[in-house]
Amino acid sequence: MKKHNFYAGPSILPEYTIKNTAEAVLNFAGTGLSVLEVSHRSKEFVAVMDEARQLFKDLLNIPEGYEVLFLGGGASTQFYMVPFNFMKKKAAYLNTGAWASKALKEAKGFGEVVEVASSKDKNYSYIPKDYEVPSDADYFHITTNNTIYGTEIKKDLDVDVPLIADMSSDIFSRPVDVSKYTLIYGGAQKNLAPSGVTFVIVKVDALGDVERHLPTMIDYRTHVEKGSMFNTPPVLPVYSALQTLKWLKNNGGVEAMHKVNVAKAAMLYDEIDRNKLFKPTVLDEEDRSIMNICFVMNDEYSDLEKDFLDFATSKGMIGIKGHRSVGGFRASTYNALPTESVKALVDVMKEFEAKH
Ligand SMILES: *Cc1c(COP(=O)(O)O)cnc(C)c1O
Repeated sequence: MKKHNFYAGPSILPEYTIKNTAEAVLNFAGTGLSVLEVSHRSKEFVAVMDEARQLFKDLLNIPEGYEVLFLGGGASTQFYMVPFNFMKKKAAYLNTGAWASKALKEAKGFGEVVEVASSKDKNYSYIPKDYEVPSDADYFHITTNNTIYGTEIKKDLDVDVPLIADMSSDIFSRPVDVSKYTLIYGGAQKNLAPSGVTFVIVKVDALGDVERHLPTMIDYRTHVEKGSMFNTPPVLPVYSALQTLKWLKNNGGVEAMHKVNVAKAAMLYDEIDRNKLFKPTVLDEEDRSIMNICFVMNDEYSDLEKDFLDFATSKGMIGIKGHRSVGGFRASTYNALPTESVKALVDVMKEFEAKH
């Protein structure tokens, strides 16, 4: 039976990425060696790193003056690397979920943290709109896509202070105006690569403005200067990331991805809205994520939750159990998820409805 992979992360990757990675594990770039056993300083791997960096810039139209880094430590390490490098006295955070809260919590060790708004009052089911960012904040941190709650900030915000964004789960899902950001980061395991590599896009001349001592590995300038090769980078995930970047380019880039992503999300939200058994957790269409789509049983059918999960699983739907803090279901519809998989899920929802 065909499996439809709706996992939130690590998550579905293009077949192109998986096949090419598997091949390189056996024979990397004609070297007769595995990509697992070659020096990161070999000319073959240096070429991988260079091409990945360049394609990343091309695909997102990254302007001059920005650098792309591939680091270890996950997005969670960025939660403290950001304040380490950017907070002098005060930073502003928008609290839109568990990841945003974790980022905010880490920043508290570095100065005054202003939570400009929070959607915690409604279990993070919306994006706060009315808030003011203090004009003396060193930066404003947002989480563009809230993987757990299925909300998304789909526009690049205009603010008067440096904007920093966690884009772990929506990078490459839509065009981004990088010039509006000072730094963008994310774990690659949602929409780009296997876990183990973290991407950072940073405006280079914004660095070096804090007085505190920066440990070498924590200082973004180290990685800018050394082209992400100060220490051993996560070689295999970077190789896989390059394959996904090539796949993105071959498939029309982020504009084309965005079109398909919007259509896939609309198909599933339409069914959730229509089907008598289910309801969405995010009510405002403007806030609905196109990457992680959350829904629960309608109140009068709440005792069918486990039955639906079992039924869907028996039909090949994998990874649709909702996060424990939301309950119900979550279908992640990342770039690599084919439209056919969303159709299959919609069919399963209809079939289940017909039985009840
Ligand atoms: C998954 C996720 C993280 C955590 O990433 P790690 O690489 O596991 O540290 C942070 N932010 C968002 C939005 C995520 O989806």
